[in-house]
Amino acid sequence: MLVTGGNRGIGLAIARAFAEAGDKVAVTYRSGEPPEGFLGVKCDITEPEQVEQAYKEIEEKQGAVEVLVANAGVTRDQLLLRMSEEDFTSVVDTNLTGTYRVVKRASRAMLRARKGRIVLISSVVGLMGQAGQANYAASKAGLVGFARSLSRELGSRNITCNVVSPGFVDTDMTRALTDEQRADIVKQVPLGRYATAEEVASSVRFLASDEAAYITGAVIPVDGGLGMGH
Ligand code: NDP
Repeated sequence: MLVTGGNRGIGLAIARAFAEAGDKVAVTYRSGEPPEGFLGVKCDITEPEQVEQAYKEIEEKQGAVEVLVANAGVTRDQLLLRMSEEDFTSVVDTNLTGTYRVVKRASRAMLRARKGRIVLISSVVGLMGQAGQANYAASKAGLVGFARSLSRELGSRNITCNVVSPGFVDTDMTRALTDEQRADIVKQVPLGRYATAEEVASSVRFLASDEAAYITGAVIPVDGGLGMGH
């Protein structure tokens, strides 16, 4: 299995959960050292050649990817009037187009094998919206339409495609928020706290398991109740 952005945060927790269950795990990383215990492949998902190279390396060393978790993502928050074209397109290029690149490449072998599991990591913000995150929310909402289209395209080949939609999770991404912003967020969450990355990972594991064989095109919220009704 492959987790993009599996070198830290939610992606690392997902990689660990699969490795603990005995799966062969590959993770992408962009700089520094890959985390121990997995096959680390260097890959920036905004670069099509690097995506191709990463898959070649994984296929050589671990065989075809049967479970893909498209987790890599970025934020570049700014209010609309101050949001540059580059702020917008770079977030969409990573979160949405980058996901297209890795899913498309994985689907080749999955179609041949007539089985596969694809899980995309979206966000509660994709459906609720968030001031200052129009670029991020658009990219994350886009993943839902993308996944649902693929569910229809790939379902007859026994390939499922689902979305996990976390609320606020304690990682580097949210550590960038001020204490005041964090306190405001927690007030709106029925469960009154942030999620741990492991709590997101367990839903991803479920969607890749035999027990979830009949679930496709679903959006699973892991958000402490924040997005209820969406
Ligand atoms: P982090 O910022 O901790 O990690 C982001 C990961 O994505 C890193 O591994 C990073 O790699 C990787 N990444 C970013 N851009 C690229 C790229 N161009 N190519 C390859 N890898 C890339 O974030 P989280 O762990 O918090 O987030 C993981 C996912 O979960 C994201 O998609 C995020 O949007 C989503 N999410 C997070 C929430 C939260 O509250 N934290 C809530 C809802 C959704 P590198 O180390 O090389 O930078």
